[in-house]
Amino acid sequence: MIPAAASPNAAPGALSGRAVTIIGGGIGGLTAALALAQRGARVSVLERAGMRREVGAGIQISPNAGRVLDALGLTEAFHAASHPSHGVELRDHHGALVLHLDFARWRPDAPFRTIHRARLVELLETAARAHGVNIHLNRSVESLPQAPLLIGADGLHSLVRRALNGAETPFFTGQSAWRAIIPDDDPQPLTRVFMGNGRHLVSYPLGFGQRNLVAVLERDDWTGERWSQTDDPANLRREFAGFGGPVPGWLDRVAETGLWGLFRHQVAARWQDGRMAILGDAAHPTLPFLAQGACMAIEDAWTLAACLDADPDQGRALSRYQQLRQPRCTRIVAAATANARNYHLSGPKRLAAHTALRLANRLAPSTAFERFAWVYDHDPTA
Ligand SMILES: Cc1cc2nc3c(=O)[nH]c(=O)nc-3n(C[C@H](O)[C@H](O)[C@H](O)COP(=O)(O)OP(=O)(O)OC[C@H]3O[C@@H](n4cnc5c(N)ncnc54)[C@H](O)[C@@H]3O)c2cc1C
Repeated sequence: MIPAAASPNAAPGALSGRAVTIIGGGIGGLTAALALAQRGARVSVLERAGMRREVGAGIQISPNAGRVLDALGLTEAFHAASHPSHGVELRDHHGALVLHLDFARWRPDAPFRTIHRARLVELLETAARAHGVNIHLNRSVESLPQAPLLIGADGLHSLVRRALNGAETPFFTGQSAWRAIIPDDDPQPLTRVFMGNGRHLVSYPLGFGQRNLVAVLERDDWTGERWSQTDDPANLRREFAGFGGPVPGWLDRVAETGLWGLFRHQVAARWQDGRMAILGDAAHPTLPFLAQGACMAIEDAWTLAACLDADPDQGRALSRYQQLRQPRCTRIVAAATANARNYHLSGPKRLAAHTALRLANRLAPSTAFERFAWVYDHDPTA
C-alpha cells in the first residue's frame, strides 16, 4: 500500500512518521484519520463505498463531540455546514408539551448542533485530505491487511471487531426506525420528540431548507439489520396517523424513506490487541435514543490519537485507549437503551410518567438536563 504523505502541520510526538491503516471512512474513521495525521502519522483509509451518497439523513452533535471538532480546527467549517439546536421538547402524541430540555439556558457556551451526515463526512474528508491522508474509495476489505497499526472503524458489522472478539449475535429490540428528510423552511432550532403508544417521532431542522425525521415503531416482524432498505412512505404515514401538532404536515411531505431494524449489541469486550484497535460502531453500536453514536465515534477518535501520540509503546497506548473509553461508552449505550423504554410507555404508566415530568418541568426545570450532564459536559480534549 502506498503510504500517505505526512501532514504539513505535523507536531512532533510518538505518532510522528508512523504508518496507520484505517478500515472504514465513516464519521469515526475520518475523524481518527484527521486526528492522527495532525499529529504527524502517515494515514491511509480504506473505504468500501465509492462516490459519497446522501445516506443516513441527519445527526445531532452534542458539545462533547463538538469540542473534538473544535480541537481539530473544524469550528468554522462545522458551523457553516450545520444548524444550531437550542433544546429538546418532549411532547405527547397530540402535541402537548411534557418537558423542555433547554440547552441554550443551561449550557449557553456549549452549543448543540444538527447536521446532515453527508455534509459532516464531506467536511471531515476534505480536512483529512488536506492533512495528507490517503483515502481509497471503492476498497472493500475482505481480509485484514498486515499493517503495523490497524484501526477498525468499519461500523456495525466490523471485521476487526470479529477478529478481536469472535462472532457475536446481536438481538432485535422489537423496534424499527424510518428516517426521512423533508423540505422545510421552519428554522426553529429545536429537536421535537412526539411520544405515543409503542412509537415515537423525532424531528429537527438541518438548515439548508431541510428537516430530519426519525420515527420509531415497536414491531416483531423484522429480521435484518441494514441501513439501506427503503420503504413506502404510506406505511410511515399509516403508523403515525393518530399524531397531532405539526406531525401530519411533516409526514405529508415525505417522498422517500429508509427503514432500519434496531438491534442491541454488547459493547465489545476486547478493543485492541496491541496491533489492531476498534472505534465507533465497531466497538459499541448503540440504539439512537440518546443521539450519541456518532458523538462517541468522534470522542474515540480523538482519544485514540492522543494515547498513541503520548506513548511510543503501542501496546500500552492502545490499552490505555480502551481503559479510557470503554466505561464511558458502556454507560452511554445503557442510558440510550433505557430511554427507548421511557419514550414508548402506554396506559397508566405513561400518564404517571408524563405527569411527573410536567411537574418537574415546572418546579425544577434544570433537573432533566442535569441527569445527562455527564454526557454533554465531558471534554475528551481536556
Ligand atoms: C436512526 C438513527 C439515528 C441516529 N442519530 C444519531 C444522532 O443524532 N447523533 C449521533 O451521534 N449518532 C446518531 N446515530 C448513530 C450514528 O449514525 C453512528 O453511531 C455513527 O455513524 C457511527 O460511525 P462509525 O464511523 O463508527 O460507523 P459508520 O458510520 O457505519 O462507518 C463505517 C464505515 O466503514 C465502511 N466499511 C465497513 N466495512 C468495510 C470493509 N470491510 N471495508 C471497507 N470499508 C468498510 C462503511 O462503508 C462505512 O463508511 C443514529 C443512528 C441511527 C440508526
